[in-house]
Amino acid sequence: MSRPGASCLHVDDLPIAESDIQGLLEVRPDDVSAADQLTFAKNIFLPLTTACRYSCGYCTFFDAPGNASILSPSELRSQLETATQANCTEALFTFGDRPDDRYTKIFSQLDEWGYNSFHDYLIDACKMALEYGLLPHVNPGDQTAAEMQTLKPTIASMGAMLETTADVTAHSGHRSKSPAQRLHTIDAAGRLQIPFTTGLLLGIGESWRERAVSLLAIAELHRRHGHIQEVLIQPVVPNNRWQQPSPSVDIVRRTTAMARVALPQEVSIQVPPNLTDIESVLDCGVDDLGGISPITDDYVNPDHEWPELENLRSLAQSAQVPLLERFPVRDRFLPTELQTSRLLDSDSTASWLSGQILTQIKDLRPLDSYIPETV
Ligand code: SF4
Repeated sequence: MSRPGASCLHVDDLPIAESDIQGLLEVRPDDVSAADQLTFAKNIFLPLTTACRYSCGYCTFFDAPGNASILSPSELRSQLETATQANCTEALFTFGDRPDDRYTKIFSQLDEWGYNSFHDYLIDACKMALEYGLLPHVNPGDQTAAEMQTLKPTIASMGAMLETTADVTAHSGHRSKSPAQRLHTIDAAGRLQIPFTTGLLLGIGESWRERAVSLLAIAELHRRHGHIQEVLIQPVVPNNRWQQPSPSVDIVRRTTAMARVALPQEVSIQVPPNLTDIESVLDCGVDDLGGISPITDDYVNPDHEWPELENLRSLAQSAQVPLLERFPVRDRFLPTELQTSRLLDSDSTASWLSGQILTQIKDLRPLDSYIPETV
């Protein structure tokens, strides 16, 4: 199995026209309309390990070798049980990139539990989530195509933030995250027909032009494969490792509008409500609030609590749109008989999702209940 990064996709190799960049840079919030609904997924956030081979300057999530934690199988089962009782549908597995790469303690612990690698443990963790009736959405960082292929039968969807196509100092260091590697991961997921979430991290040193190029790069990968389900517009927030301020609301508003113009309508534009003044962004084309957990913290942004579901309802009411709970995989990736709305024109085939995942969705949403619940 080759190492992630052995293959890269450089942004300069994507067919992004200068006129498209200039056109996107002209976009302002007044050029887009507010969405006609807001969606969210009810999840449990499972920080499988805080080990990571990288050390991004803005990240408060990772722990240094020797200090990193890893959820044991019994801890995991206990949390999955809690999630089931709280009526969550998504098991969100977020953790550092290639955690057993340089963390010998993590590797030894996995060995003790009978796993050859963190990847093997992840697959088992997803199977456990399915046992508890939850749909796994994984954020594994960069993966090889071979790794994604083995993971695919056990997941509903996958995510990895592009963040930016620019080489920024926030990624600096001898083990820096590479935009070309991340583009390759997103492209490979598309070739494997894995429903995928990605997005931009604003305020880490990128320029307006680089924001436009990043959005157009995502749009190009979606044009090739049709696999992007949501694009996040996420502002960086200060923490114990990152003392720079968040980007202004105006920057979030303009970038959100640019995303809405850059991506086709089938791709949701997501802004996290715990990291932004979400009310002031709703007119910029936001139609998704992402995963919200009623039982766990946002471990990547621990100072920023999720809003209560009641607050989401108020938000939607003030915007005069319905608030709909969704699965971590979108309707268009499901066979017609499992979609929440039969009005959708879908070319979906079974190749997006395994039989195991489809069975799980069938169990979560009986066939006679096509209307999504409004909380
Ligand atoms: S942002 Fe992700 S890749 Fe970077 S250090 Fe944190 S966990 Fe690792």
